[in-house]
Amino acid sequence: MKENPRHIPVVESLREGILSRDGFMGEDTRPFTDIILDDAAVLASAGTNAVELADKMTRLTRAALAQAGQEVVVEGYRVLVEDYMGRISCPFRDHRAPKRNTQVWDNAGRQMSWTALGVHLIRAHGFFQGQGAPYRLEPAQLADFLRALD
Ligand SMILES: [Zn+2]
Repeated sequence: MKENPRHIPVVESLREGILSRDGFMGEDTRPFTDIILDDAAVLASAGTNAVELADKMTRLTRAALAQAGQEVVVEGYRVLVEDYMGRISCPFRDHRAPKRNTQVWDNAGRQMSWTALGVHLIRAHGFFQGQGAPYRLEPAQLADFLRALD
C-alpha cells in the first residue's frame, strides 16, 4: 500500500521522485535548514528578504494571470504565465500550489522563471531550493532582477 504522503517527513519529501520528479534539493548536500539560513544571509546583505521578493514575484504573476498563455508587459517586464491542470503539495505540508509557471524577461533581456510552488517555498519557508535543483533561484540574482520593482 502506498504511504500517505502526509506522513512522509520533510527531508524525504524534498528528494526527487516523492512530490515532484526532480525534487527540491538538486545535488546540494547541506541540510535544508542550512540552505535556508545561508540564503537568508545573502538576502540580508543585499538589503532584502524572502517575503519582499515573493511579493514582487506574485505582483508580476498576478498581473499576467488573466492573460495566461500570452506574453504581457508588466511594469517594464515581459511576463508569460502558463497554467496547468492540478496542484502540487508543498514538501512542508502546509499548502497545495497550483501548477503554474511564470517566465519573466527584464529590459536587459535577462530571463528568470518561477513556479507557484517556488514562490510559496520562498514566502512561507525562505527556501530557494538546493544547488542544482531545476527551479532553484539564486537569491542575489533574483533580488537584482526584481530591483526595478522597488
Ligand atoms: Zn509550504
